[in-house]
Amino acid sequence: MTTIISSNLGYPRIGEKRQWKYALEQYWNQTISQEEFIRQTDQIRLDNLKKQKYIGIDLIPTGDFSFYDHVLDTSVMFGIVPKRFPYQGGKVDLDTYFSIARGTKDAVASEITKWFNTNYHYIVPELQDASLTLTSNRPLELFKEAKEQFGIHTKPVLLGPITFLQLAKGYKESDFGKLLEALTPLYIQILQELQEEGATWVQIDEPIFATNLSDEVLHDAHLAYEKIREAAPGIQLLLQTYFGKVTNYKEVVSLPVKAIGLDFILGDAFSQIKAYGFPKDKVLAAGIINGRNVWRTDLNKSLQLLEEIKQAIESETIIIQPSSSLLHVPVTKRLETELDPIIQGGLSFADEKLVEIVTLAKGLEYGKEAIQQDLENNTQSLIQFNQSAFKRNEQVQKDVEELTKDSADRGLSFVDRIALQKRRLKLPVLPTTTIGSLPQTKELKETRTRYRKGEISVTDYEHFIQQLIKKWIKIQEDLELDVLVHGEFERTDMVEYFGEKLEGFVVTKFGWVQSYGSRCVKPPLVVGDVSFDQPMTVKETVYAQSLTDKPVKGMLTGPTTILNWSFVPDDIPRVTILNQVALALKKEVELLEENGIKIIQIDEPALREGLPLDRNTWQNYLESAVYAFRLTTSSVQPDTQIHTHMCYSNFQDIFETIDQLDADVISIETSRSHGELLSTFKENTYKKDIGLGVYDIHSPRIPSSQELNHNIENALSIIPAEQFWINPDCGLKTRKTNETISALKVMVQAAKELRQSLLLQPK
Ligand code: GLN
Ligand code: ZN
Repeated sequence: MTTIISSNLGYPRIGEKRQWKYALEQYWNQTISQEEFIRQTDQIRLDNLKKQKYIGIDLIPTGDFSFYDHVLDTSVMFGIVPKRFPYQGGKVDLDTYFSIARGTKDAVASEITKWFNTNYHYIVPELQDASLTLTSNRPLELFKEAKEQFGIHTKPVLLGPITFLQLAKGYKESDFGKLLEALTPLYIQILQELQEEGATWVQIDEPIFATNLSDEVLHDAHLAYEKIREAAPGIQLLLQTYFGKVTNYKEVVSLPVKAIGLDFILGDAFSQIKAYGFPKDKVLAAGIINGRNVWRTDLNKSLQLLEEIKQAIESETIIIQPSSSLLHVPVTKRLETELDPIIQGGLSFADEKLVEIVTLAKGLEYGKEAIQQDLENNTQSLIQFNQSAFKRNEQVQKDVEELTKDSADRGLSFVDRIALQKRRLKLPVLPTTTIGSLPQTKELKETRTRYRKGEISVTDYEHFIQQLIKKWIKIQEDLELDVLVHGEFERTDMVEYFGEKLEGFVVTKFGWVQSYGSRCVKPPLVVGDVSFDQPMTVKETVYAQSLTDKPVKGMLTGPTTILNWSFVPDDIPRVTILNQVALALKKEVELLEENGIKIIQIDEPALREGLPLDRNTWQNYLESAVYAFRLTTSSVQPDTQIHTHMCYSNFQDIFETIDQLDADVISIETSRSHGELLSTFKENTYKKDIGLGVYDIHSPRIPSSQELNHNIENALSIIPAEQFWINPDCGLKTRKTNETISALKVMVQAAKELRQSLLLQPK
């Protein structure tokens, strides 16, 4: 008889209605005290536990909750606080913790970057000045809390040492082994204390095993886990992988731990098990419910798969769980009462996924009959959803089928295009611009809410947006920026906005997921073939352009970013939807151009994060992303200037792809990664126009002119001035109005001074 255990890897932190976000922001704005903040967040955390217990999950995680980011939690637990923040040792206090994440007026924040192939961002640990010590045993505190408050015996979750070190920076690759040796005793201490407290299962997250690791790292990992097992024999360690196929399957499943967690969705773990087997003496934790999307699981299929897995592995215990933490999906579909019931019936968010897990566990343990009613309901909902009218659009399917290589070609080469564009646009050297969005004030957000509630009319709302555009065109003219933007005030979010306008998408009311810090996004859902329905950005852009002689950039979100930041169906190939989105955006580009817009920016900040974790499969993804981008821009005149923008990723290794997008101008964030991208330019000769973000927009601090000059001069030592643009590193929507104006003033001034000094220099 096999023992079946239901489990969760991580629950969303944000609360059903983003209470978490509001608590954080109120604390940062000092509208609530620290005690009140702690009280509110305790409540959210405990509610999350209660809910999972109520649903009937056997292994409920603790340690998945965070005040900002679980990687930062791990860093501060190990005493890793960059020297620029005051810190005397011991447990890191809350305000120091937030300073590392957000920066202060004296110290820049630590870099943020994307968590594997997701849209979650973590704070990169900086090991350069670290002496590793255990400053507090957070997993233990949270384990005790759940035990004492609810009598729940939880499964503590820790970020694993291999992943943690691989994601950190500030050390030489050759020092990896040494650092791991220093870190291992700290893990041991945590686990021994947990063991003493009575913990049984402990989940160690090692998603890094889905990436390509060297033999040395694998070898060091084996040694470290061996030591950990010996030192805390009472703990049943569950080594958890996710987000992709484990690249060194044999080595990973032979690590000295009790259980191995594999991703059966993105990781296709079953093929590996069939090909290489699974160790008899280990427990398999099977991630079979998709932790990365929002669709109802086909329970019949999953149960079938589980039966097959059970046959294949001969293990005494199977843990059934989501394929990854549920951090990446919204909390519950229960609140989506405004959706078409058929669509609602096709959905499953975090809570519903947990119910699916409990159902499957029951089905696997007691047989199909035990869950007969659930299976029938499931089949009914899925049939209705899959047969519904919004699923198919024959015309779009045909358009995509007819695409050829030439459909994505702009004709004239960059060199010829840029000459025509320069003649038309007449911009100075080192042109200044911004990335698109301008501050979204409280008043704007309130007005939008009232509009959504029907309290003000469309006309009044649109008038309000126009006033903002007008105000900011004037501000930008006064600042003497060279290329203006309309400000994106009509958009809450760069993807959701297009989801609302494109055919084939629906948007939710509370479908939020955490992106970075307190910022959440609400990805739209692709429920059928995607097509152009109505102009999406023309009205606002053309209005803005009518107010000024300077060029106003049209602003679109690119096809790959729209796709990566949406929830996409499993039953249509991703590239098909990608090309459908590209064709719809192409129409929008054409409309902007027809209406006199000379510069169009198509943002692709999510291009890199969609990369599969295994490098060997990158090529396909990158080719389709490039194709879709080029398709979107393929029909514009050569003197229409195409821009693109990317941020918060490592771009070094996809530079060739960036070049192939064939955008005339690209702006890339570099200020938060402190100019590391520059080294890439030393090696590559990038010939197109480029703006490297000259200051970090995520921090409330106003950059000094020295700092900006330094950043720009640094860049100009490598990139010729004729190619260089000056801009902040990302959109300004999260900043305050005054901060924005002050920072842009410094930026424009720096550009002017540099132009002067270039004039003085002999050619
Ligand atoms: N144009 C968008 C903005 O300025 C780009 C945002 C992004 O890169 N994430 O807000
Ligand atoms: Zn950006």
